[in-house]
Amino acid sequence: MVYKQLSHLLSRGLARCVLCAAGPADPDGICAPCRRELPYLHSACRRCALPLAQPADACANCLQQPPAFASARAAWHYAFPVGQLIRRFKYHRDLAAGHSLALLAAAHIRPNERPDLLVPIPLHWRRYLTRGYNQAQLLAARFGRQWNIPVRPRLLHKHTATDTQQQLRRGQRLRNLRDSFRVHGAPGGLHIGLVDDVITTGATLEAATRCLLEAGAAKVSAFALARVP
Ligand SMILES: [Zn+2]
Ligand SMILES: [Zn+2]
Repeated sequence: MVYKQLSHLLSRGLARCVLCAAGPADPDGICAPCRRELPYLHSACRRCALPLAQPADACANCLQQPPAFASARAAWHYAFPVGQLIRRFKYHRDLAAGHSLALLAAAHIRPNERPDLLVPIPLHWRRYLTRGYNQAQLLAARFGRQWNIPVRPRLLHKHTATDTQQQLRRGQRLRNLRDSFRVHGAPGGLHIGLVDDVITTGATLEAATRCLLEAGAAKVSAFALARVP
């Protein structure tokens, strides 16, 4: 709905670049000079999207402890100005920033092997009520439209709030997250594409993936805007 209004605005050429406010911007909402400055992630671990000097099938971490998800892709390094745009989108209702990021990312991380369904990483209902929207769900909707893949926003539920994850160490995050997701539905035999805004340690994806695989999903891949090194 919001996206429809935005697309309408953009198609009329009224929108200005979400980064430099020059205008009118390109249909994706970011002007060409700003787009060239974005920190695209060209070289990463194919398994967990960790930035590497050379692309590799698995980084040292993934060799030592392979994640449950089959692959992960992120469009950008979590760095200026993408980090700022993501925070505007996530915490300050800047849906135009989200729309631009989603469109550009969809072109950059288009899957080679298409998942059967896209599923956003859910927010706990309390967080959802405070924020009013789930940024991962908006991203999944846009990716789904660009890639022609159905989106199932309610397949995965977050039934435990894990609010202060950012401050916790990986071990603790995993323990907290392990039991925080539930599958409502039957992903049996399906290849699920999980969508999130940022991959930080991969712990959230790992927990959600395990939950989906236990519920019968055949395979899980992950798609995000940005990866924290
Ligand atoms: Zn610009
Ligand atoms: Zn890796």
